[in-house]
Amino acid sequence: MCGVFGIHGHPEAANLTYLGLHALQHRGQESAGLVASDGQQLFLHRGMGHVIDVFPPEQIAKLKGTSAIGHVRYSTAGGSFLKNAQPLAVDTARGSVAVAHNGNLTNAEALREKLEERGSIFQSVSDTEVIVHLMAISKARQLEDRIADALRQVEGAYSLLFLTEQTMVAVRDPRGIRPLCLGILPGKPDAHVIASEPTSFDLIDAEFVRDVEPGEMLVIDQRGIQSSRPFDRSPRSSCIFEYVYFARPDSTLDGISVYEARKHLGRALAREHGVAADVVIPVPDSGVPATIGFAEESGVPFEMGLVRSHYVGRTFIEPQQSIRHFGVRLKLNPISDTLRGKRVVVVDDSIVRGTTSRKIVKMLRDAGAREVHMRISSPPTAWPCYYGVDTPTRGELIASSHSVDEINQYITSDSLAYLSLPAMLEAVTAARPRSPGNGAARSLPVAPSRPDPQSFCHACWSGEYPIEFTPHPRQRHVRLMER
Ligand code: AMP
Repeated sequence: MCGVFGIHGHPEAANLTYLGLHALQHRGQESAGLVASDGQQLFLHRGMGHVIDVFPPEQIAKLKGTSAIGHVRYSTAGGSFLKNAQPLAVDTARGSVAVAHNGNLTNAEALREKLEERGSIFQSVSDTEVIVHLMAISKARQLEDRIADALRQVEGAYSLLFLTEQTMVAVRDPRGIRPLCLGILPGKPDAHVIASEPTSFDLIDAEFVRDVEPGEMLVIDQRGIQSSRPFDRSPRSSCIFEYVYFARPDSTLDGISVYEARKHLGRALAREHGVAADVVIPVPDSGVPATIGFAEESGVPFEMGLVRSHYVGRTFIEPQQSIRHFGVRLKLNPISDTLRGKRVVVVDDSIVRGTTSRKIVKMLRDAGAREVHMRISSPPTAWPCYYGVDTPTRGELIASSHSVDEINQYITSDSLAYLSLPAMLEAVTAARPRSPGNGAARSLPVAPSRPDPQSFCHACWSGEYPIEFTPHPRQRHVRLMER
């Protein structure tokens, strides 16, 4: 779970990248970083925490140049340390190069062992560093060929941005697991932007052009933008969890509006698992669009029964005298008037460990709800993700070892139901596609095609992993700490 943003050919590159990262903050809150280039040199700044804290204005002012790439991180491979923060940037015999990665490589550990045996010294435990080492040993002369050489050896999920003194390169893995899209800035014919989600374009007045296609490499330099496909074709396996939970609802990914997809999921949920009720409420914020769909389809009135605080930081001081429900109340608080004496349907996008749902059900009952029916707009999450979404181990996923009835008992709801896998696939692909933009890059080949239900990765629900992954037995321990 990470976000990448890059811009080439704009005098305010670092500033705009900062804003772009801000719009991608939901994709990772652990660390943020930005590299800018003035054509001669790269300038890097990274830090732990939120974008707004990592980049005070005086810091951004130091990141000079007309191109920049940035990253927000939520650790999936490697621990939560500054040295695993991205972009990674190195000086090589051929010049400097920085890289920002969203996704997770499935053979990174095996490649790293081979590289270390032949003398490579790694700075971090992040899987992304493997790519930099593979590029360094490539015999190819051109940057794009060295990148392609490296990426032909890795497996897994990657939406990547590279920056050198002169050039920005964007690559999406051949299966298109994580999203990546291209935009332009109207009135700035030389400026191109690339981001994990197009919602980040809105903030800087950039225009969405199209999604980067699976297996596509875009090279952007003074000559303009060039598209190539350096990899063998693979079947598409875009992550459907992006639509269910992860992406922002104001994004459109691969032609499918996330907001519409979530409403469709809610409608399908009402059709499959309707229940007599007085109100339907979301678990805010991610459950809101699905609840709107559920209410539309079922006719059960939509209400806000829970309010979310947006100011919950990563750490808080718990009072010594224990307060009942302290943790969950920090985030969510019920509106008793909408709940008292009512039969309540509560819609959430997923149950992971089950602890949140259990607390929510108790909170709703304490607030006076007569019945609580939990409805989940995706199937039971029973398998961990190896492609870049932060999920706990299989043992911690409640649905890996418990039936729906058992989970219902655990979370103490009157009833619990999950959307089926076929209905989820159907609902997401039925969401209204957005027409591709008409920017300067429209002469580039490939128009975005709307994925069919077979072209999604749904391993976290089905256990059908599109890329094999054998968890590596060796555990790396970080001993050298950067503070
Ligand atoms: P849990 O208490 O572990 O069952 O958490 C369930 C809540 O976590 C739901 O409200 C989801 O919206 C949210 N959620 C689902 N997947 C993830 C994820 N990979 N990372 C963080 N939160 C998640």
